[in-house]
Amino acid sequence: MNQVYLDHNATSPLRPVALEAMREALSLGANASSVHGPGRRARALVETARETLAGLVGAPLEAVTFTGSGTEADNLAVSSLVNAAGCRRLLISGVEHDAVWAPAHESGAAVEIIPVSSEGVVDVGWLEARLDAWDAVEGPPGVAVMVANNETGVIQPIADVARRVRDAGGYLLVDGVQGLGKLRLDMTALGAHYLTLSAHKLGGPHGAGALIAAAEAPLIRQLHGGGQERGRRAGTENVAAIVGFAAAAREASEAREAQAPALAGLRDALESRIAAARPDVTFFGAQAPRLTNTSCFGAPGFASETQVMSLDLAGFAVSAGAACSSGKVKASRALMAMGADETLAACALRVSLGWTSTARDVEAFAAAWLTAAERVIPQHAA
Ligand code: PLP
Repeated sequence: MNQVYLDHNATSPLRPVALEAMREALSLGANASSVHGPGRRARALVETARETLAGLVGAPLEAVTFTGSGTEADNLAVSSLVNAAGCRRLLISGVEHDAVWAPAHESGAAVEIIPVSSEGVVDVGWLEARLDAWDAVEGPPGVAVMVANNETGVIQPIADVARRVRDAGGYLLVDGVQGLGKLRLDMTALGAHYLTLSAHKLGGPHGAGALIAAAEAPLIRQLHGGGQERGRRAGTENVAAIVGFAAAAREASEAREAQAPALAGLRDALESRIAAARPDVTFFGAQAPRLTNTSCFGAPGFASETQVMSLDLAGFAVSAGAACSSGKVKASRALMAMGADETLAACALRVSLGWTSTARDVEAFAAAWLTAAERVIPQHAA
């Protein structure tokens, strides 16, 4: 049975343009640090990809450091905040991905959580007041707020956050992993010091990410070895993945303006259909600015795991909020930060659309979800 794939925020299927570019790169089979002809060709591919990525986010070439994942880029940025910029206290939003959350808590710096509203938007007033009361003994403030949440799609007011952080002499890390290809991400407009990206969220391959660092943002290497990536990230470059990353990012960004409203139409149709049939469903973050491809909702009594499994059997690939690597689902930290009831958070399902999604897929999914819900939590039970 062919699965209908509605889990683009976990991984968006590889775009043909990326596959084609990677095939060519793989057939080169040379090390981008080698000085011979094939090595120089591999190097040229990496540098062309760097140009593409830099152009897409409005940054100079030297701002781009390729990494092996979005997680690695986030770790590199958090480590740079603490160990290069001298931040001894980090303020991170309550909805950050584990790729920021975990290294922040492991960094040795004190960590404070920036609250979010019930719609999942960071409290900029809280941040401003906290920065006003900053104690210089703690070094410059290190702040992390993501562009858009992977579970709810809620978009954060990054430029507002950046203004406050810069006025306070701090540094801002923006996890842009769910943003590239879905939103305009421009380093200057965002005001970020560090911006992190990942290839597989936009139809590129696994195993490629990037950290974009503003000129005034200090970096410290985490991987020691060769002098790749200007000494910022040792390790032989994954040339094919980097090339696929750039090809996918270019196509996703070019298609963005046409695709975003189309996806919003599909997402809204899905939510309207479910809401009309099931008034007991809560749509998380629905009143906030959201990525047009993402819907996160829950009905009390219909556990996330049950939903994922029964929809899988019915031929639909969706996810229970954050996809945990162990395959286990725990109540979502992001939803809890939004004040969701724990039992409802344990019933959250995430549907995330992308370049392969069609109206027919979404209609079929809505029908299948309603059937499954009726089986587990009948509305008119005696
Ligand atoms: N940040 C966000 C917001 C994400 O959604 C993810 C992946 O789920 C990551 C970081 C980690 O990226 P990667 O899977 O490339 O390590």
